[in-house]
Amino acid sequence: MKKRHIACHDCDLLMQIPSLKHRQQAICPRCGYVLTRFYQHAQPKLFVSALTALVFLSFSLKFPFILFNLNGSENTLTLLDSIQSYENLKYFFISALLIFTAIIIPVCFLLAVIYITWSFDSKTLRPLTNQVLKLTLLLKPWNMAEIFLLGIIISFIKVQTMAHIEFGASFAFYLLFIASLSSTFFYFDRYQLWSLYQLKAKKINTQDHYANS
Ligand SMILES: [Zn+2]
Repeated sequence: MKKRHIACHDCDLLMQIPSLKHRQQAICPRCGYVLTRFYQHAQPKLFVSALTALVFLSFSLKFPFILFNLNGSENTLTLLDSIQSYENLKYFFISALLIFTAIIIPVCFLLAVIYITWSFDSKTLRPLTNQVLKLTLLLKPWNMAEIFLLGIIISFIKVQTMAHIEFGASFAFYLLFIASLSSTFFYFDRYQLWSLYQLKAKKINTQDHYANS
């Protein structure tokens, strides 16, 4: 791959990224920021991880998330119930923020990742690939599903003394969703994706040029 100039995300130092081998990473010589990591066949792995994460998330919405026994009565909460229950406490903003960061943003991010990897795998780039790629970069920092999970576990420990609580099947699926989402983040590399986009766009332009000449 042709060497390109890139500005460090942390300290703005302008430098060239050399061609990398499998598992090699490029580090900023001034601040130590990891500029990019190269993995062979990262695109199919990215596609599979994103798709798996979406499947696990859809399963986690179907089954009971928390089962608890309060004053002798059995109750169950789904994943959405456990988020929306904040509304009862009039914490509407927290509830909305949780729905966005734990479900809606991850879903949009994963769909966008699936779209760009599918586009890169196609003969010609699919419409709006450039914009969808920009969208994934915008959404990535807002994925906070693991923080929601941490909050649930802390609440679980606190409430354990007041009621008998168990996690349902949905909780296991949500854990699997977070593992797949983490795998998606692992293979999602800003520099590599833009390089691939430019390579693909250039290839198509060259083919069009020869076809027209
Ligand atoms: Zn730097």
